[in-house]
Amino acid sequence: MIARPTFFVALGAALVAGAALLVDVDLRLREARAQDGREWSRTGPFPNHEVYYPGTETLAPDEMRVVACGTGMPTPRLKQAAACFLVELGNGDKFIFDLGEGSYERISALGIPLDQLDKVFLGHLHLDHAGDFPAFYMTGPVNNRLRPLRVWGPAGVRPDWGTKAWVAHMEAMWAWESATRGAVVDPRGLQLEVNEFDWTAVNQVIFDENGVVVRTLPAVHGEQTVSFLLEWKGLRFAFSSDTLPTTGWRDHAKGVDLSIHECFLPPRMMMSKLGMTASEAIFVGTQGHTSAQAFGKIMSLTEPRLAVCYHFQNDNDTALAVYDDIRKTYAGPLDLAQDFMVWNVTKETIRTRMAVPNHEGFPAPAQRAKQPPDSMAILADLLSETTFKSIEPQSAAVTNEQIKVFNERNGTNVQPGLTAVPFRNP
Ligand SMILES: [Zn+2]
Ligand SMILES: [Zn+2]
Repeated sequence: MIARPTFFVALGAALVAGAALLVDVDLRLREARAQDGREWSRTGPFPNHEVYYPGTETLAPDEMRVVACGTGMPTPRLKQAAACFLVELGNGDKFIFDLGEGSYERISALGIPLDQLDKVFLGHLHLDHAGDFPAFYMTGPVNNRLRPLRVWGPAGVRPDWGTKAWVAHMEAMWAWESATRGAVVDPRGLQLEVNEFDWTAVNQVIFDENGVVVRTLPAVHGEQTVSFLLEWKGLRFAFSSDTLPTTGWRDHAKGVDLSIHECFLPPRMMMSKLGMTASEAIFVGTQGHTSAQAFGKIMSLTEPRLAVCYHFQNDNDTALAVYDDIRKTYAGPLDLAQDFMVWNVTKETIRTRMAVPNHEGFPAPAQRAKQPPDSMAILADLLSETTFKSIEPQSAAVTNEQIKVFNERNGTNVQPGLTAVPFRNP
């Protein structure tokens, strides 16, 4: 008897809560239907407005989509690759800004044909902004890129430090890779167009095609570093690469739609998390890079539609610390970038979501007919007695039989250049 009133109170509360939940769900459904303007099928898919599934969303003709393919640090980390942002436009153009270590796998997880990703802009040549470029370039043809790759980067303050020299050194370093892998892939995707620009010019146009203009601003980060501005159909995207806040950014990134600027952990966290000494932490965190307070200040000065900070380990504890420091100097719209964060930008709205990447992706299909090379003829010069003598005959016999069956099924006439060797008459 004593328990009864308590029971009814509890039951009553549960019913009220349940009813409130039902009302809430019903309201949301009705509101969504009102926006959608049609009834949803009970068996068909429901519109999902919370996440972005790559490869399933058409961009409007005047819409820009930006995907964070790397928001972290040089320190390797599963959660965050180093710097890389992909910009996709409603006219079909796509641009990669910086290509730090680990970012290539993020790009691949979006399933975009590599022929459509032929423009790479490097703000500077530190590993955490350019480290995945060799892999992106050299394995492009393996992943069905059949078009030349185009890259833009700064000229050097010394002749051997600029982007052209960097590419030449890369090709020299990977000479054997090019000779061997190059022998088995369509060679067209290994053509490279290198565009070097003067990093000191302010608001300099370095790209102007198809209604898209890309400009550079000198950055403060060990010289020969730039920030980028992209403008298309009145939409403006700004990407700092690495820099302290600059007068160029203050004057030319004012009021941009999406303002992606670097921002480091508070120095005390660089000491506790990264093992830096006090003098290292304060120097790196304020003189080599933008502190969270300084990030907030430059955003207050430029008032973008949406400010995005990147270039720190974005975890629960660090995010709170960075957020608190930014809020000391900036009160406007703000995102703390993570890998696979996505921004859809139109004149009317900016929407932030997370992408759902494909962890088991295969290369997107080739965009043109392939022209595979005669690999055996190319490799013939390279192969030695050591290779030929190392071919195990019984396994080779199995392989030769497999090739015979393959030829019969596919109407091809592939010859086993290597595995036939043990059966050749001396
Ligand atoms: Zn750097
Ligand atoms: Zn960096």
